[in-house]
Amino acid sequence: MILRIQKMIFDFPKNEVAGGGFRPWNPAARWIVFAAWGLIVLAAGCGGREPPGAADGGRLRVVATTTVVADLVRQVGGDRVTVDCLMAPGIDPHSYKPTPRDADRLAGADLVVASGLHLEGKLTDLLERLGRSRPVVLVGDSLPEADLITAGGGLFDPHVWFDARLWSHGVAPVAEALATADPAHASAHRDRAAAYAARLVSLDERLRTQIATIPEGRRVLVTAHDAFRYFGRAYGIEVVGVQGTSTESEAGLADINRLVDLVVSRGIPAVFIETSVSDRSVAALREGATARGHDVGVGGTLYSDSLGGPGSGAETLEAALEANTSAIVEALADRSAPRAEDAP
Ligand SMILES: [Zn+2]
Repeated sequence: MILRIQKMIFDFPKNEVAGGGFRPWNPAARWIVFAAWGLIVLAAGCGGREPPGAADGGRLRVVATTTVVADLVRQVGGDRVTVDCLMAPGIDPHSYKPTPRDADRLAGADLVVASGLHLEGKLTDLLERLGRSRPVVLVGDSLPEADLITAGGGLFDPHVWFDARLWSHGVAPVAEALATADPAHASAHRDRAAAYAARLVSLDERLRTQIATIPEGRRVLVTAHDAFRYFGRAYGIEVVGVQGTSTESEAGLADINRLVDLVVSRGIPAVFIETSVSDRSVAALREGATARGHDVGVGGTLYSDSLGGPGSGAETLEAALEANTSAIVEALADRSAPRAEDAP
């Protein structure tokens, strides 16, 4: 077990950035950030870090990259951790660039938890460097490789949290890292982790049951970008991203026509948008379908790479997965049901 944890914490991604889904940095910018980061890490090392949690009533200072991993750390760490999340709700982690303030936040962390599998494409090198001076957990990289979906270029699809059961395997590595950093409360971290993993497994069963209520022919999830492949595989719904995996290039006319064919021939009543992605392609798809006599509604906005902000009711992964699934079932199950866009 200890060996496995060591490997999980210190071993860096199985997959190298090699012309895959994530653009390498401009070499000059890369060098500057490397140099700056080196100084920060050096300064932190030379200055002598305070003992874990010394400044915060004994609680561990954990820096998480995305809202999804911040939630995971809160669920496992409970009141023993103070979680600082680098990315605010609604931020796209694929394109997020670290700020100088982020470097300070990371330098002061007892533990860093990231989603991994190159989701945080522009943070990968910083996280690797940071991993030499303090524990860094990459949740996605700790999951069984056989369960990951390949994404081309030697990379894996990083959107693993959409499969609640698969994500539950990432709970123990976080608990072990917390237990190592906070040994006095190790059993409490492990107990909360076991309870949370069990909740994710029962959520997994609930989501599958809900998706199964959609008539089989209409179990097609058309979204703005291709973030839902794990969700589709886990819960039995075909997934089509209008813009593929890239959020920056517009879908071509041929792609739109292919999707118009799909929604018209299958009678798909609704497609979905995402807060962080332009809905232009989705609008073109709907226009194309209308021109062929088939009205396609907008089934709602799905939480994809970020959870909801305060007051959204989707501040946790469990709530976000429930909200997405309810929106999908409501929009696809009953053709006569009112759609979000029909509301005044
Ligand atoms: Zn994404």
